[in-house]
Amino acid sequence: MARYIFITGGVVSSLGKGLASAALGALLQARGFSVRLRKLDPYLNVDPGTMSPFEHGEVFVTDDGAETDLDLGHYERFTGVPARKTDSVSSGRIYSTVLEKERRGDYLGKTIQVVPHVTNEIKEFLKIGEDEVDFMLCEIGGTVGDIEGLPFFEAIRQFSHDKKRGQCIFMHLTLLPYLAASGELKTKPTQHSVKELQSIGIAPDILVCRSEHPIPEKEREKIALFCNVRKEAVVAAYDLKSIYEAPLAYHEQGLDQAVLDAFDISPAPAPNLAMWHDVHDRIHNPEGHVKVAIVGKYTQLEDAYKSIAEALTHGGMANRVKVKIEWVDAELFDREDAAPYLEGYHAILVPGGFGERGTEGKIKAAQFAREKNIPYLGICLGMQMAVIEAARNVAGLSKAGSEEFDHEAGGKRFEPVVYHLKEWVQGNHTVARKADDDKGGTMRLGAYTASLKDGSKVAEIYGTTTIEERHRHRYEVDTKYRERLENAGLMFSGMSPDGKLPEIVEWKGHPWFIGVQFHPELKSKPFAPHPLFADFVRAAVEMSRLV
Ligand code: GLN
Repeated sequence: MARYIFITGGVVSSLGKGLASAALGALLQARGFSVRLRKLDPYLNVDPGTMSPFEHGEVFVTDDGAETDLDLGHYERFTGVPARKTDSVSSGRIYSTVLEKERRGDYLGKTIQVVPHVTNEIKEFLKIGEDEVDFMLCEIGGTVGDIEGLPFFEAIRQFSHDKKRGQCIFMHLTLLPYLAASGELKTKPTQHSVKELQSIGIAPDILVCRSEHPIPEKEREKIALFCNVRKEAVVAAYDLKSIYEAPLAYHEQGLDQAVLDAFDISPAPAPNLAMWHDVHDRIHNPEGHVKVAIVGKYTQLEDAYKSIAEALTHGGMANRVKVKIEWVDAELFDREDAAPYLEGYHAILVPGGFGERGTEGKIKAAQFAREKNIPYLGICLGMQMAVIEAARNVAGLSKAGSEEFDHEAGGKRFEPVVYHLKEWVQGNHTVARKADDDKGGTMRLGAYTASLKDGSKVAEIYGTTTIEERHRHRYEVDTKYRERLENAGLMFSGMSPDGKLPEIVEWKGHPWFIGVQFHPELKSKPFAPHPLFADFVRAAVEMSRLV
């Protein structure tokens, strides 16, 4: 039966709760325990699938096809444990389940209330898979005191009582602001935040205090005394140069030891941190650098492409170089020459995206990379743009485009080289969609198998001809144009097992030009860089030697 660690936050948002949870997960693994991490989000969206990446950052997709919060990406990158649908839940999802049950009559005429009906539903969620791991780490989104968060706090309070004494602990993240005028760290906001937690019946066992300055012993004692925690359980979280320092940094501050003490686990198994030392070394001692342009639409908010940025960093680590990412707005050259914006980069990446805005610029970026022999990685929409570019400029289909844009414009402006997929095979069943389906959850989502062509560049990079990667899209390249495009030199080097859906294209004779319909960035880890990103950065390093 799993032990539960509930992670909450106070004082301000964006303290790095997700990172602290992920790092703690990695440290518990380093001590030989198995872990699973979960996120409970108080917002009312049923899932983040329909939320703008501008507002909420990227949507992270799991193998089993859930559209989840980007924190699940952190969890996977630090622990390597593939997240599942049942690792992420929102108030919206909980309420919609409760209301469905109410309509079905499952509550037998009872009055439906937040306590116990909503809280019970949250507790049921927490229990899923409790027999599978040693530790279940559950992070509550938002900060204590938020109106939306209350049912979650109440549910975890009850949950810890339902379980045996000592089976659940609470870890709370706060901020120690520094007042430059008096040269002091202030503990009052932390005290208030803990009071707020205590007022709803939760007494934290561990306090993780974000601070820009070292926490003096005296302040640590004061926090311990006023917040009713042990002194060793007041753990400092200092700013880091790289997120991948977090496991070692938290270990130095004694977080994992404090957690094991709180559960009374002794003797604590010694940690094996060799992997994290290697990660640390690769991050901090690069032997060179490459410059990669990410040509996208949401370039203002880097969180919109979080996993891609991380996967590029991992690719750099694999080659012992630092990857300097520059965000280039595709709309800038929708109608002009792309060259002035793209010259000087060692590689170009066009990421996923939705809608027509910026797509002409992305098509030009693919053309620039093809013509100038610059390494190009097109992901999802980035692959579709590369195919349209090939169709228009090499295969003689000057009106090539995507139904996604025609649909928006309401006409037949384009020859639909990329079309709206309505029916496809997943495992051993067929999935069907209607054009007027809801927007949420109607994409080809989650892990699908692809067969790679023997002798292709991708087969060589992956070292195998069968792969499984995660998808999130509605549109597909039409195999109707395959022969024409292949004759022009664009090889369809990866296909769905039934041969109907193009998964990968690559230009023959180009040093490195690959488009993939899936999202390889979602599976990359600092200790296991994704082969496509590792090889893409290797090609960028070669390019940097040429210029
Ligand atoms: N908009 C495209 C589609 O739905 C690409 C999606 C993506 O890049 N994730 O097919």
